[in-house]
Amino acid sequence: MISTPVAFAADAALYCPECAERLYGPDRSGRLDREGNEVWPMFGAEALDAPAHCDACGRFLPSALAEEGERVVREAISQGTAPEAWLDRWPWLAP
Ligand SMILES: [Zn+2]
Repeated sequence: MISTPVAFAADAALYCPECAERLYGPDRSGRLDREGNEVWPMFGAEALDAPAHCDACGRFLPSALAEEGERVVREAISQGTAPEAWLDRWPWLAP
């Protein structure tokens, strides 16, 4: 099964596929960012320390969460500041 990247990491930022295409072109395999690093596809399995959003358009980027990321999301839910997208993605973190 071929999975589609949910985001791309480049220039020390994360971008949704649409913004990555706008910034780096439709074929990003082997493309280098402005720092000379490869534009890196993320497939949603990477465990992040916080929920990720596109650095260009702000769109939520679905990912897995590391322990620290789960703590951040639980705290936001308990304070009522978690966006709907977080609850859709990680419903089991709600009390
Ligand atoms: Zn975007």
